[in-house]
Amino acid sequence: MVDWRKYWNESIETISRQDLRRVQFKRLNKQLNNIYHNSSYYRGIMRKIGISPEDIKSLEDFTKFPVTYKDSVRELISAGDPFGGLLCIPFEDIKSIYSTTGTTGIPSIHAMTKENQEYAAEQTARLTWMQGFRPGDVLFWPPVRWNGFIFGVTPGLERIGVVSITNILYPLPNYADKMVYALKHLHPDVMAAPIVIFDGFLEACKRVGEKPAEVCESLRTISIGYGDVLTNSYRQKLIKEAELEPEKIFSGGGAADTMIHLAECEVREGTHICEDLYLAEILDLDTKEPVGENERGELILSNLYMRGTPLIRWGSEDISTFSRETCKCGRTHGRATWIGRTGFQLNIMGKWILPLDVDDLFIDVPEAAGVPFTLFKYKKDVMEKLKMKMVYDGSKGLTKEEFREKVSGIIKEKLGVETDIEIVDSIDDLPKIAHKYKRVEDLTKES
Ligand SMILES: [Zn+2]
Repeated sequence: MVDWRKYWNESIETISRQDLRRVQFKRLNKQLNNIYHNSSYYRGIMRKIGISPEDIKSLEDFTKFPVTYKDSVRELISAGDPFGGLLCIPFEDIKSIYSTTGTTGIPSIHAMTKENQEYAAEQTARLTWMQGFRPGDVLFWPPVRWNGFIFGVTPGLERIGVVSITNILYPLPNYADKMVYALKHLHPDVMAAPIVIFDGFLEACKRVGEKPAEVCESLRTISIGYGDVLTNSYRQKLIKEAELEPEKIFSGGGAADTMIHLAECEVREGTHICEDLYLAEILDLDTKEPVGENERGELILSNLYMRGTPLIRWGSEDISTFSRETCKCGRTHGRATWIGRTGFQLNIMGKWILPLDVDDLFIDVPEAAGVPFTLFKYKKDVMEKLKMKMVYDGSKGLTKEEFREKVSGIIKEKLGVETDIEIVDSIDDLPKIAHKYKRVEDLTKES
């Protein structure tokens, strides 16, 4: 057996925090000059508040820089600039153009140079190597180019020497039977899949009478997430119900706009990011001031290497905690633990509830752990009941009515709110967008 090294890039992955901050500031300084001189959007906001790159002399000074949200860029896209004023390079330097999924509105368009792709590849190589991807491995990659994130990930997999199986199937839930067939016959070594697709696969296993653990036997790593987050409750479902070995399961994911890749190491205490390539901050949701280690707030990201369409102090609209303590795996780069989307907070009779709060209630409830559901925002302000759709699985011994009563009883007991639950038969019956099912459907938005 080949004695593979532990880290893809040991010197940078275990760099001291002090040296890491030095690398971050050096790259940030270069990036600030890039955006000031080349991006009409960023030059505009920097002039508006009267700062130039020279005014930011430290990472602390950088907190003066305004946070940008998708909506500001969307306004510029609507006004006719497809890149929303972010493009910093001449068109001939563009290596690839890609779009986000547009989960919360119109997709945004981004561009990368050849050099940007190299950095994105390095990022993916480090994080997939960390999850056990090795040269010669066959990767089953069912999402079929779900969005622009693929432009960063594919070169990274090629850098390791992983052989990808892509585009041979289209395994959205309706087609998931084919995914069972492919896994059984192609014997891949590693797999990466969004939750909605993996869940469709689990349903398909039942339909065709296969055991997921047997179908997944050849896999050493199952990296799950990519657009949704692997919650503790879903992990329990994979271990207890699908009987997958816990050490095979890793959370992984990313975002196309910032091209960030996040991944869990074997310690499984949050998802690592490559902090030499991204500056991560967590800001209090109300005061917008930085919060302490492991406190909840909004994750703000700055891309330190992207020259094409860099996003700087980008409001991810994700609520997260962040730890900068050295991980037990030896990596010094921080770990984010995702809590929910800022737009997913629902006010039920004065109590703020996120999908993850509901999900966590079911960790030790075999009939409901990891069962997909969608919450509905049917009023802009306070709602009387938690309205939801939840998938019912007849194989777990409860009738539909018993299942509904059990779920509503747990929610009432633990969260103290009344529910209005519609039970559906398949993940296919939940509202979806692209490769994700909706955790929250906002019915108050005008279409
Ligand atoms: Zn780690």
